[in-house]
Amino acid sequence: MAKHYPFLDLGKVNAPYAVALKDACARVIDSGRYIGGTEVEEFERELSGLVGTRHAVGVASGLDALRLTLSAWIELGRLSPGDEVIVPANTYFASVLAVSTAGLRPVPVDADASTHNIDTSLLERAMTPRTRAVMPVHLYGRPAWDSRIADFASANGLLVIEDVAQAIGASLADGRCCGALGDAGCFSFYPTKNVGALGDAGAVTTDDAELADMLRSLRNYGSGGKAYYFDHLGANSRLDPIQAAMIRVKLAYTGHENDGRREIAATYDAEIANPLVLKPEPGPDRHVYHQYVITTPWRDELRGYLLSRGVETLVHYPCPPHRQNCYPDLARYSMPVAERLANEVVSLPISPACTSVDDAREIAAIINEFRI
Ligand SMILES: *Cc1c(COP(=O)(O)O)cnc(C)c1O
Repeated sequence: MAKHYPFLDLGKVNAPYAVALKDACARVIDSGRYIGGTEVEEFERELSGLVGTRHAVGVASGLDALRLTLSAWIELGRLSPGDEVIVPANTYFASVLAVSTAGLRPVPVDADASTHNIDTSLLERAMTPRTRAVMPVHLYGRPAWDSRIADFASANGLLVIEDVAQAIGASLADGRCCGALGDAGCFSFYPTKNVGALGDAGAVTTDDAELADMLRSLRNYGSGGKAYYFDHLGANSRLDPIQAAMIRVKLAYTGHENDGRREIAATYDAEIANPLVLKPEPGPDRHVYHQYVITTPWRDELRGYLLSRGVETLVHYPCPPHRQNCYPDLARYSMPVAERLANEVVSLPISPACTSVDDAREIAAIINEFRI
């Protein structure tokens, strides 16, 4: 029987934490407090400590973290409906969906062919008189940040909303954490993320007390705190205390989990040597490898070959947001790099719970035998 290399097995990811997770769950059950309360407050304190911001606000998902942050800025008068938000063309759909469902207009900017993140040399060209914000997405766990995006945002007075869904624990060479670089950092704890809950969960980090207060209101229908009185048209997007308790168990091991991913990535970096395949370029920052993504023009052939050798792979993502059926308004944009990446990317197994360094070495050897 040929060996099998699974992409991801969430049971295995959580097995080392199972006893602590069950204890934490029992703690919530016994507390009698099933909305808000100390689990959510302690989680918020721990996340803001990890990221290095003054505040963190737990919400129901990563999508809501993004959407409610943008809505909060509208409520605070810092954005107006119809304003434009610059987004990367190469991102997960939810980044862009958050912008349009908040009543704002996403304007895509093409990807850098080497980092797959937003090409910061193209930002100026996307500016219009309606541009009010920019959303760097730290895709695959690689910080999407440089002096160009920082200077661009401050020179034009733009709000910066970071999509940190894939990059908890990622940081710049100077030590600053993703989620503390812009005006707000939006996290997802979807079960497959580097730190995953056992269901849906999200959070926003910020130094801005006004934004944090507005988010606390919007996640609770728009209530100002006085029971049954509402100041804003909010949402029901409270972070479930059971999920807060689950995340708290795992948050303490963020660095450990990311180090495991980085070790597998370093093995792929060192061992994959096939001229048909391009590896991600290591950059100066701390990349946390939510995905390890290689590219090849023979993507489908490579995936079929790898599967025949027992190696499961995935594609993140096969169709960019501006090419989705739900976005006819974005169809006029041509984003050649993002469109090419959608046809060429392959994600290799990277979860340290499912893939050992020896497995990574074997997978690299299998890739090196790929021919067309
Ligand atoms: C997962 C993800 C989201 C959405 O998070 P959910 O918790 O699934 O709503 C947003 N942006 C990116 C880049 C993601 O990977």
